Amino acid sequence: MSGAVDPWHDDPHLGEIVVAEDVLDKRVAELGDELTADYEGRPPLLVGVLKGAFVFMSDLARAIKLPVEIDVMAVASYGSATTTSGVVRIVKDLDSDLTGRHVLVVEDIVDSGLTLSYLRRSLLAREPASLEVCALLVKEGQQPVKLDLRYVGFHVPPDFVVGYGLDVAERYRNLPDVRVYKGPVTVG
Ligand code: 5GP
Repeated sequence: MSGAVDPWHDDPHLGEIVVAEDVLDKRVAELGDELTADYEGRPPLLVGVLKGAFVFMSDLARAIKLPVEIDVMAVASYGSATTTSGVVRIVKDLDSDLTGRHVLVVEDIVDSGLTLSYLRRSLLAREPASLEVCALLVKEGQQPVKLDLRYVGFHVPPDFVVGYGLDVAERYRNLPDVRVYKGPVTVG
């Protein structure tokens, strides 16, 4: 951490580091190289799913050496703070028309996969030329149906995690790494 004191070092709610900062940096660079090669000649529209994906999308966009465009959307799922019900609603829609575009959805974490399968259906109905997903984290063994995830950063154990964009009640998004969250979950 560039010589600075880790401001979270004595937070009793934070557990082990699941993905360290240098490991994140390296993997994002690799994904950037892969996407640069795959999308050569057809620069994608990156669709970030707020708020959790904002840190990952910011780093990933700069690792893709193509003239990408960026848009964001926000979804809310009905359910408790730590589980998803699968009923998802678009809270902020995209500004862009997806027709004929090469769309790359950038997701923070896939747990049950219900949010993503809803999003995919909704975005495919807008007739993009292609639609792929780049998810930073995928929880192992959690998805009831097979998800077509073209790009994945890391497969992680099914613990609740925070950092690198992921929150609990809006906190911890600026942690530079991904850590297990051990505290009580407050609905934010
Ligand atoms: P799914 O629909 O795949 O079950 O849930 C996906 C969404 O739930 C993610 O986009 C994220 O907002 C939230 N989520 C799932 N697992 C975690 C987690 O471990 N930590 C945090 N902070 N959010 C999570």
